[in-house]
Amino acid sequence: MKQTIKTIAVIGGGPCGCSLALQLKRKGYKVGVFYIEKRPEIIVGESLVPAIIPYLRKLGIEEEVKTYSTYKPGASVWVDADEESTAAFTCADGTLPHYAYNVPRVKFDKTIFDLAVKEGVSFFKQAAALEYNAETDEIKLNQATINAIEDFFQGQPDLIVDASGRSRTISRLINIPAKEGNRKDIAIFAHLSGAENISPFNIHLHRFSKGWFWRIPLPDRISTGIVINPELLKSYGQTKEEQYDNLLKTDETLLRFNSNAKRETGVQLYSNYQLISSRLYGKNWMLVGDAGGFLDPIFSSGLFLAIKGSFEAVNTIENYSNRSLKKFQKNQMNELKLWQQLVDTWYSGRLFTLIKAGQDRLDTSFGRFVEPYIKRHLTRIFTGEAVYRAISRAFLAFVLGPMIGMMKMARLHKRNVKDYEIK
Ligand SMILES: Cc1cc2nc3c(=O)[nH]c(=O)nc-3n(C[C@H](O)[C@H](O)[C@H](O)COP(=O)(O)OP(=O)(O)OC[C@H]3O[C@@H](n4cnc5c(N)ncnc54)[C@H](O)[C@@H]3O)c2cc1C
Repeated sequence: MKQTIKTIAVIGGGPCGCSLALQLKRKGYKVGVFYIEKRPEIIVGESLVPAIIPYLRKLGIEEEVKTYSTYKPGASVWVDADEESTAAFTCADGTLPHYAYNVPRVKFDKTIFDLAVKEGVSFFKQAAALEYNAETDEIKLNQATINAIEDFFQGQPDLIVDASGRSRTISRLINIPAKEGNRKDIAIFAHLSGAENISPFNIHLHRFSKGWFWRIPLPDRISTGIVINPELLKSYGQTKEEQYDNLLKTDETLLRFNSNAKRETGVQLYSNYQLISSRLYGKNWMLVGDAGGFLDPIFSSGLFLAIKGSFEAVNTIENYSNRSLKKFQKNQMNELKLWQQLVDTWYSGRLFTLIKAGQDRLDTSFGRFVEPYIKRHLTRIFTGEAVYRAISRAFLAFVLGPMIGMMKMARLHKRNVKDYEIK
């Protein structure tokens, strides 16, 4: 049954919620966003992938984002302490722009928020209190919330969209079962000055003995985050600040890039790494962005997926029916599953094994023949394109799967995937 939606309440004024509200407003819907003004001093999600650029252009924010961000022409993977393997986005040879940005997140979020305000989206500086009717699967704003927003929707909104990120407001309210990933890592991060310069401004992803860490060059600082087993982290101190500072001071690989570094911010911790709700919609509600599901951040896919998801939610709302909601859920789940498969190649050690095995064979005719293809499709993981091209998916499934084993059997390399696993 098709239904016409006219009024929408959005929960959460982050990038996904603001992008959604902005688009809906442009299309003439009555939309109000519940948001929490207080945000942490620094927020993860600072490295964008080229796949997000077309969406920034559609929203009309790329020019402003450019003014306070670093221009990101590629990604660098460090297999070991001294071995950097760089993929310039030009190598992807795809349809996407050959660049992205590293963004101070607080400014990035403010850009979308301010534009939404400018274009007339209504914002309510409070959390919405919700009530659930399990029999009808409907969610309502409670009377106190309706009063607080001066009956903005003239009764209940036709639709409530949860874009509250990891708070997962609706999933928690109605206990939607979620699928969690196998890993229980924790990310601990801060901004540093005086750390070793990164030029050009690629994101740097380092595999090291305790897990992995990122270095993201922002205009005046380097964002450095360490992804590590929580038990191991505890051995570095009582507080998160002690843990972060001690890790930086004592680990040989971290120290190498940070011997003169000074921490300029507080330290933020993120646990809870992969989580996908088993339902993304109900009778009068939808889940979008991280509120519906999030993945391990290794390939910087989060903001792209959240904003892309907001565009797909708008299409669904325009053609609102059980069928379009089902399709929305199916597409979102499928996308997360495909990204997850790529993420797994990082932790299993397959990606590193392929990079090393490729280096072993570079001086052979086989190596020279296959290298451009490997480079192109591996780079597409970092541009965000690999998931959306059948050819890349098939090629990567082969080279990151059976080909590594076949090369080993044919004695073309000596690498063991297990040796590169991230514990
Ligand atoms: C360690 C780590 C590193 C990451 N690195 C990257 C990266 O490099 N690149 C990248 O693209 N992504 C990265 N991500 C993922 C990225 O941060 C998220 O995918 C992205 O922020 C999702 O956007 P969102 O709008 O869905 O949610 P959020 O950005 O979380 O926004 C949700 C908003 O809702 C608000 N809110 C919550 N509850 C309520 C409520 N009840 N009422 C009203 N408002 C509420 C919150 O305050 C917040 O403003 C990383 C994630 C982690 C954990």
